[in-house]
Amino acid sequence: MVASWDACLKCTLCVTQCPVVSVNGDFAGPKALGPEWYRAWQGGRHEVSRHVQDCTFCQLCEAACPVGVPVAHLIMEHKARAASQVGSRERLRDAILARPHWVGRWSRVSRVPAVVRRFGRLSVSVRFPKRRWSRVPDLGEPLAPPRGTVGLFQDCYSQAYDPELVAMARALLRLWGYTVIPVPQRLTCCGAAASAAGRPALATSLARRLWPELNEALSGCEALVTLNATCDGTLREEWPLYADLSLSRPVQPFDVIAAEAPPIFWERLESVGSGDGVWVTHTTCRGKVARGDGHLTVLALRAGYQTVVPADAACCGAGGSYAFKAEHEATSEALVAALKRQVAEEGSVQGIMTDSGTCALHIEDATGVATRHPAYWLYQRYGQYLTKKEAGDHERT
Ligand code: SF4
Ligand code: SF4
Repeated sequence: MVASWDACLKCTLCVTQCPVVSVNGDFAGPKALGPEWYRAWQGGRHEVSRHVQDCTFCQLCEAACPVGVPVAHLIMEHKARAASQVGSRERLRDAILARPHWVGRWSRVSRVPAVVRRFGRLSVSVRFPKRRWSRVPDLGEPLAPPRGTVGLFQDCYSQAYDPELVAMARALLRLWGYTVIPVPQRLTCCGAAASAAGRPALATSLARRLWPELNEALSGCEALVTLNATCDGTLREEWPLYADLSLSRPVQPFDVIAAEAPPIFWERLESVGSGDGVWVTHTTCRGKVARGDGHLTVLALRAGYQTVVPADAACCGAGGSYAFKAEHEATSEALVAALKRQVAEEGSVQGIMTDSGTCALHIEDATGVATRHPAYWLYQRYGQYLTKKEAGDHERT
């Protein structure tokens, strides 16, 4: 698969960065399950670890490796080889969850009976997402002259479960002067979930099916804006490296485009004022791998929130469909425990900002605090500005 697997220095830096190692004693860690396993496999020792599936595919190990061993991707291969060790019900479940666009077709069903969950080897404790849809009014005339056209990537989760978020992001982009084309039009997947589940062939096939449609839609655009850090990393980094596919336009996370919003937008948000509450930002692991931590905190501060703290969790344990699997319940809960503790200690957390729909769901369940994408919070805050302005205008007349 890769040429640099045998460059491993055994320094264990990857192990120190792995969030699962510290909460799951059965998990042997990235060094053992990645390069060491691959070396043994190449040498003819065809053994696999059942617990390799406990990896969330956060890729923090790979980002930490000083010599570029593709640790997480070796683990993805390991998962693929270990698939035969998984029971038949788990295999059926995994085949479905690796295609979240299939699951999304049932997005109006938010309650899955316990008996179905048990039979389907789904977690009995997690909440399944409820479709969020409401009328999302425009935010008024653009604040800047036309700035060109961008594609807005409606990932399968947002398209199926959170069309409200897509509409809010679209309204904000229009306010900032962009013409917006939501893509793709049909419910489909970039392959991120398949990669995480150890199905590289399926991930590549999904990528190849989506690529022509995206490229065609992007021909009149300057960039593709993403709402989910995992899909963002998949389109920008995984596609060229592992599927040999490149998009004709740059892929940019929503917060990067937001940072270039007209100055008057930020001035207006600041004028709303901020209460005494605390705001917590959680950059998902794939966001951290791609761009480091801190960009959501900067965004929240620019939006005028006074007290903003980054979340105390490298990985929240959502891992796409990871938290929905019965055997991951304990690991997933242990991973989000630090964040849960942090929110309880802070005492007056008003909201949590994160760049992934499934992370938002998982964190909101664990902490009881509203957890949403930055586009949601920016939209709400600009709405507060408009309401305040309208009240002021009304008083004056
Ligand atoms: S991808 Fe994440 S969970 Fe998996 S081994 Fe690497 S650091 Fe650990
Ligand atoms: S960080 Fe890289 S070099 Fe160090 S043990 Fe892990 S895979 Fe090997």
